[in-house]
Parts: sequence; C-alpha cells; structure tokens
Amino acid sequence: MPKKQNRAAVIYYPGRVDLRKLRSIVESIVIPLGWEPTLWLKTEADETGAVQALRAIAQKATHIVVAGGDGTVRTVLEAVALNKSAVTVGIVPIGTGNVLARNLGIPLENMRTQVKRALQGIAHPMDMGLARIILEDDTRVEKLFAVMAGIGFDAKIMLNTDSARKLKLGWIAYAESGFKQLPMRYQKLSIQIDGREIRSVRVLTLLIGNVGWLPGKLSMMPDASLDDGLLDVAVIGPRRIWDWIDFWTRVTIGNNVVRTTRAGRKLLDATANVKTLENLTSKKIRVMPEELVELQIDGDAIGLIKEAEFESISRAVSVRS
Ligand SMILES: [Mg+2]
Repeated sequence: MPKKQNRAAVIYYPGRVDLRKLRSIVESIVIPLGWEPTLWLKTEADETGAVQALRAIAQKATHIVVAGGDGTVRTVLEAVALNKSAVTVGIVPIGTGNVLARNLGIPLENMRTQVKRALQGIAHPMDMGLARIILEDDTRVEKLFAVMAGIGFDAKIMLNTDSARKLKLGWIAYAESGFKQLPMRYQKLSIQIDGREIRSVRVLTLLIGNVGWLPGKLSMMPDASLDDGLLDVAVIGPRRIWDWIDFWTRVTIGNNVVRTTRAGRKLLDATANVKTLENLTSKKIRVMPEELVELQIDGDAIGLIKEAEFESISRAVSVRS
C-alpha cells in the first residue's frame, strides 16, 4: 500500500490574519517535506469553521491548522470530533482570548513557531465537553466545547457585549464592561453529578471546564487535564471570587481592559452572605436552574436555558502543540 500522504488544510479567519505571511510560512514547511498541496479555507459569516473542517476531511487533509479565535477553534474541533476524524488540529491563535492555545502552551506570538507546532508538534488526544441543552423555547441542542461552559454571570457578560468589541478584544477581554454594567445576581441551581443525589447551590457563575485554564498560573481548576475523561466544575461564590477575578485579569491584562481593584470591589460588595464554593470533578453533570439562566460555550453566548447536561467525551480529538 502506498504511504498515506500528508496534507495540510489551513482554516483561517480572514481580515484578522496576515495571510501572505501565513502562506509563506506554511509552504516553507510543507513543500520541502513533499506534502500534498495545502488547502486554504477561509471562514465566512455563516460558515464559521465546521463546513471548512468537513471540506478539509473530505479532501484527505491530515493536518488542520486553525488560524482563528476561540469560536473558530471550537467550531472546527466540534466538526472533527463529530466526524470521528483522525485529522490533527493545531492552532495559530488570533485575538486575545485563546484559552485553549494557552492551555496547550502555544506561544501567542511568533507565527513560525505556531505553524511549526500545528504541523509538526506532538499530537495529544483531547477530550471535548458535550452540552445537551434545553433552550428557553424547549428546543434541544447539542454543542461540543473545548475549553469551558459557563452558566450565570459570565454568560450574561457575553450576551451583553456587542460583537465588534468582542471581535476586537477577544471573548474574555470584556469582563470589565460586565462588572461595571450588570447587576450582580446569584442563581439558584440544582446540580446532579454522575447520577448522585441532587444538590442545591447558589452561585454567581458555574463553570464547567474541559481542559482547565492556564496551568501553573491559576488554581481554580487545578486538576483539569486534556484527556482525563472528566469535567471540572467550579462553583463560583464568594470565597473563589478573587480567583475568578485573577483569572479574568491574567488573560486580559495585556489589553489593559480590566482594572482589578474596581471590578473586585464591586464583586466583593455583592458577595456578602453567600455560600462557599468548591471544585468538583465529574464525568457528567446535570444542571437544573430554578429560573432561566444564561449559558455560554467557549465564549459564544447560547442564550437563556431551562436545563443542561454536560458530559466529557473522552479523547474526541487530536491536537498538536
Ligand atoms: Mg478534563
């Protein structure tokens, strides 16, 4: 049998990437290696990555490179996972969030290094989180996420941020506008972990993480790893508020967007008399809010939901870094 030919497919977000530079770096790596001609697939307003990923798979790509932000990365990984494709995915981070790229230790500058890692870095199996969602109007949808889902305040921030600002700053970078403008509200949720007894929690936000955040820098989800088959659940209440601010601040500090003290003061003012929180791990978590709550998935606002179940899909994709 002839040896399987490698082929790169670059899925890119036009306008936010230096395409000429990206092309020349990719070709300078794959041409000397004798790979098949590279596929160049740009995202569109109504085709944000999934269609491009399926096209890449159909055309026998072995290495997908996503030059985009968290939303594009999520969409591409979802399509690859649903297709059960063995294609590997690497990231050339664009924008300022890039939480997955940070988790994978991909440098946020130096495009040559990013491309080299995406094409020739070690391939790691990675879990994906599956969210089964019941929306406000009883519609049921399923979404896969790479980094995290958030219920409550952080999702509200996403919903209330205009998309131009979001594109410019990245989805994590607009925490301050949320802190300043939105009333701090606690949500009462019933949660059931791995089919055990249902517990009631009162939270500012409930975060369900697939791979954890900023390893070594943040203690909020210390045990999350790429392929442990578990989701990490952080119940954000008063004790952990500072960790949460610390997280938002660390990922946005470069943009000078978050001013910790002001945001922190406002949060602390709002957090009297609320229950302590904790970190949990689970294979599956069911969340039943008392009232409709907002949900975000890898930074994309999903809207108001009635209920959601989150499950870890073990080793759903293979990522290079
Ligand atoms: Mg995990």
